[in-house]
Amino acid sequence: MEKLLELKNVHVSFNTYGGEVKAVRGVNLQLDKGESLAIVGESGSGKSVTSKAVMRLLPAKTSKIKEGQILFEGKDLVKASNREMEKIRGAEISMIFQDPMTSLNPTMTVGKQIMEGLRKHQNMSKGEAKERAINLLKLVGIPNPEVRVQEYPHQFSGGMRQRVVIAIALACNPKLLIADEPTTALDVTIQAQILDLMRDLQEKTGTAIILITHDLGVVANLAQRVAVMYGGTIVETGTVDEIFYKPKHPYTWGLLASMPKLHAESKELLAIPGTPPDLLNPPKGCPFAARCPYAMEVCVEHMPEAYDVSTSHKAACWLLDERAPKVEPPEEALVGGAR
Ligand code: SF4
Repeated sequence: MEKLLELKNVHVSFNTYGGEVKAVRGVNLQLDKGESLAIVGESGSGKSVTSKAVMRLLPAKTSKIKEGQILFEGKDLVKASNREMEKIRGAEISMIFQDPMTSLNPTMTVGKQIMEGLRKHQNMSKGEAKERAINLLKLVGIPNPEVRVQEYPHQFSGGMRQRVVIAIALACNPKLLIADEPTTALDVTIQAQILDLMRDLQEKTGTAIILITHDLGVVANLAQRVAVMYGGTIVETGTVDEIFYKPKHPYTWGLLASMPKLHAESKELLAIPGTPPDLLNPPKGCPFAARCPYAMEVCVEHMPEAYDVSTSHKAACWLLDERAPKVEPPEEALVGGAR
């Protein structure tokens, strides 16, 4: 597979009144053309900051990509000028945010909003852009698109608005679509429809997707690979099957154990005790050490390296060192009884 995006040792910090918040600390990630990757973690884990760093959408006054490379088709976006990034955003890389209402302009028809990018990036005439807008609305499942293209966002339901946002994001055939919690603001049935639509569109268009989510349930529906983030670092990466059926990192075990299970005897949801690390003063060792029931002395003192579990699976945990005690994941973390 051809490489589309590669993050190499990316560090992002925010300047706050309290000092420097090290929100992303040494992230390495890779995405092939047409592939779908989910980045999963609690709020504050650094997943949204990582995706915004790719788009260079972080506030210039208060944040900085301090180190590392973000290579998009071999070009380092960290060094790209604002002008170059304007050309890339929307045309090569698009982003969908959580709340469709804040992504849409309430004073413009949805047709005009779709046409904007087409006119700007693809030099289409008004007529061509309108025709493409109608086709895009049809593609994302908006009934009667010839009429609805002239309507305003408030005339659409929440789910339909998110479909419009997806149509705008796909207008210029981007190579990469970043979806930041795209279904969180929607109710459960609509969530499933939007995820189905995204999977369907990915198959039709071949666009690579980065899905940012705190919800592991969403991941199984859409992604081929998963990166689990914690405390500004990637703690585990693997295929969906590897993460769900052979997880190696205690934090991933905690995430899996806290997922609702259909046939579970107890309906109580398990939570991971404790709170995420303070990234003003990040721990020098494993970021999960304070909450990890298996933490050893070495975990507190030294950041674990990413151990290879298979060619596609890595986990940053000292338990994978050959000298560590053998620990099995807890029953609650096992999906469908896998061991
Ligand atoms: Fe737990 Fe240590 Fe592994 Fe961190 S490195 S997850 S503290 S066992």
